[in-house]
Amino acid sequence: MFRKAHLLFTILCAGSTSAITIIMSLLYLHVSESNLYDSQFRAFQNDVSTITASLEQSTYVSMQWLARIEAQNDYTIFVVDNGTPFLYNNLRGSVDPNSQSLLAEGLTAHDSMSVNEDLDSQGNTYSGIRHTEFEFASPPTQSTYYASIIDINRESTLSQIVILCSLATLHETILRQRILFILIDLAAIAALLVFSWFFTGKLLRPLQENHEKQMQFIAAASHELRTPLSVILASNECCQSASPEEQPGFSGTIRREGKRMNRLIDDMLTLAHSGMNRFLIERKPVEPDTLCLNAYEAFEPLCAQKNLTLSLSLPETPLARCSCDPDRIAQVLSILLNNAVSYTPEGGQIELALHYRREHRTSFEITVTDTGIGISDEEKKHIFDHFYRAEKSRSTKGHFGLGLAIAYEIVNAHHGKISVRDNPTGGSVFVVKLPEK
Ligand code: ADP
Repeated sequence: MFRKAHLLFTILCAGSTSAITIIMSLLYLHVSESNLYDSQFRAFQNDVSTITASLEQSTYVSMQWLARIEAQNDYTIFVVDNGTPFLYNNLRGSVDPNSQSLLAEGLTAHDSMSVNEDLDSQGNTYSGIRHTEFEFASPPTQSTYYASIIDINRESTLSQIVILCSLATLHETILRQRILFILIDLAAIAALLVFSWFFTGKLLRPLQENHEKQMQFIAAASHELRTPLSVILASNECCQSASPEEQPGFSGTIRREGKRMNRLIDDMLTLAHSGMNRFLIERKPVEPDTLCLNAYEAFEPLCAQKNLTLSLSLPETPLARCSCDPDRIAQVLSILLNNAVSYTPEGGQIELALHYRREHRTSFEITVTDTGIGISDEEKKHIFDHFYRAEKSRSTKGHFGLGLAIAYEIVNAHHGKISVRDNPTGGSVFVVKLPEK
């Protein structure tokens, strides 16, 4: 599922960014090509204006001069004298086989543009020199040209100089530019694909981990619920065929296992709420020493029953109040003390202590120290995980491996910290740090 989503997000991310890149490069290409055409046309117009200015100052047209201009600018120039093409190109010795048709096409394109070429703007017969620039495409040469026709009307003789500038070189430049852009775009798309793959992978990883954790939680929860349920079903079956004297025993088992299931479901709901950030903390000013005293009093009978010594250590000076949810913190103390009782053999000692620290941030520190079986360094890494139980405590009935996970969530919701360390004299020390506010 995540692999498919990863692929889909990658395609979506890379696809959208690539589309934007391609649109931007097409826009850039369009603007740059228009500029290239414009500047080429302007350069051509400037050349023609210079030629026209020179022609206006001289009385005759020098073929050598035209040949020089043609060679310098890579133009094709024709001279038409009174409607008859002057074979100027032959003189140069570089006859283009299409030149005659090119000339004809140029003149036809020019004629189709001119309304009345022999009349000036006032309607009088035109006299002097004028020039017109335009663009035309020649199907035989498959080329496009900028053309200029300079009309020289002197003493009722009309000479025309046709100047053609092929756009083939410009088209080649544009083609090269387009190929370069395609290559750059392809490289950009490849880079975007790789980047999107890693980026979306990084984004999806926490979701995937969360999903895996949820799956593990569901699997572990189902496993834990099945045990009491099987006992209930089996006891119920036995109860039906049992004698009246045996029946209360089976009913007792059913009740006990039902309670066990109920507690497990409560724990799971607490964790589910914390996972959905719906863990409600109702803060109020609380005297932390009262909280510890209550927990001590609640566990003293149980410790006495198990032949354990429970002691309470409180600061001698009066303490400030702590802003916390008293029920939730009492639940944390109950989990820690319950574990200490469960994992400390008979004759052991348990200490509940409260300290007031003013070092970095003012905080209350509650410690539960026992002289029990202790926790190995490897186990310390997992004890706050959901459903984690160390191998040696698996046989302890009624322990689902959720207590410390719940304690962790509660302390975390108070912006506090919970940790565990070894008791130098054997056993473990659980430390809960709570900020004052
Ligand atoms: P459980 O309900 O099984 O005690 P917890 O989440 O409270 O689950 O604890 C997780 C595991 O951490 C326990 O199974 C046990 O192995 C270990 N543990 C917790 N408290 C102690 C302790 N005081 N001494 C030794 N081991 C402990």
